[in-house]
Amino acid sequence: MKRRQFLQGAGAATLAAGALASGTAQAAPEFKWKMVTTWPKNFPGLGTGANYLAKLIGEMTGGRVQVKVYGAKELVGALEIFDAVSRGTAEMGHGAAYYWKGKSVAAQFFAAVPFGLTAQEMNSWLYHGGGMELWEELYAKFGLVPGAAGSTGVQMGGWFNKEINSLEDLQGLKMRMPGLGGEVLKRAGGTPVLLPGGEIFPALQSGAIDATEWVGPYNDLAFGLYKAAKYYYYPGWHEPGTTLESFINKEAFEALPKDLQVAVRNAIRVANQDMLADFTAKNNRALDQLVNQHGVELRKFPDEVLTKLKALSDEVVKEEAAKDPMAQKVYDSFIKFREQATAWHAVSEQAYLNARTL
Ligand code: CA
Repeated sequence: MKRRQFLQGAGAATLAAGALASGTAQAAPEFKWKMVTTWPKNFPGLGTGANYLAKLIGEMTGGRVQVKVYGAKELVGALEIFDAVSRGTAEMGHGAAYYWKGKSVAAQFFAAVPFGLTAQEMNSWLYHGGGMELWEELYAKFGLVPGAAGSTGVQMGGWFNKEINSLEDLQGLKMRMPGLGGEVLKRAGGTPVLLPGGEIFPALQSGAIDATEWVGPYNDLAFGLYKAAKYYYYPGWHEPGTTLESFINKEAFEALPKDLQVAVRNAIRVANQDMLADFTAKNNRALDQLVNQHGVELRKFPDEVLTKLKALSDEVVKEEAAKDPMAQKVYDSFIKFREQATAWHAVSEQAYLNARTL
C-alpha cells in the first residue's frame, strides 16, 4: 500500500513501467473492483475460494485489476449480491446460481441438479458441451458475465435428528435445502427452507428447522453442525457436483482492455479447478475427524429412498424446465449431456471406483 502511494506520488506511470520491466513490483491498479459474496468472510473453501480468485486476478493482471472481497452482509446481504452486481454497486460477485431461481428458473441448472452432473461432468458440459454459452446468454439479460468459479464435488445428504428409512420419513420435515433439491423435497412432502450458510447452525440448534444440508465434511465441520444433529446422511443426491459461480458486471468487464479480459477469464478458470482440489483434500480429513473425534453417525440413504427420490427429481426438474423457454433450452442441453456422460462414466469412473473397493 505504501509503495503504491509512493509510486502514485512520484509519477506512477514511469516508475511502474520500469518496475514491471525489471519484474520487481506490480503496476499501480488501473481498475479497483469490489467482489460481493454469499459466504461469510473467509469461510473455508467458499469464502477462501473467493479470496483466491481475487488474488489470482491481481497476480495475472500484473496488479492492474485489484479486487477487494466482501463477505456476506459487509456491503450487501448474501442473497442480494446478484442485484448489487447487476446494477453496478459492485463489479463482481461470487455465489451459486441456484440462489437466483427467483430471477430465472434456468439459473439452477448452472449450480446443481438433483441426480445431475458431477463436478467433472459439469466442467465438461460447461466448457466443451455448450453449457457456458447458455449461461452467458441467460446472465446477459441481467447485465452480467458469468463464470464457473469452483466446485464442492459430491455433497453430503445432510444432518438429521431421526433416521430416514423410507420416503415417508421426509414428510413434514422442515429442512434447509436450496434450489431444485428443495423442490424435490417439497414433492416428497417436506418443507424446504432457503437459508444462507451463516444462518444454518442457529436455525438447526433452535429447532426452527428439523434438518439441514450444507456442503460436505469440510464445511459442515466448520459450522459445527454435528453439535446440533445426530445423523449424517449420504450421498448428496440433490447436489452431485455443485458449481460455484463468479459474475461480473458486463459494463465493468467490457471496460477492461482485451488483455485484462483474457487474464480475468483465465484467473476464474484456474480458481474453478483449484476449489475442487481444495475440497477433495479437506473433505478427506474432515470426514475422519467428524466420525472419529466427534462420534458422528454416518448413514447411507436406503436404495429404496434414493430410487424414489430419483423418480421425483426427474419429474420436478422436467416440470421446472417447462416453466420458461430459456430453462427448457438449458434443460434439453443438460439432459442430453447427462445421458452421454452416464453411459461413458458407467464404463469408466463408476466401474473403476467400484473396482477399487471390491
Ligand atoms: Ca448444499
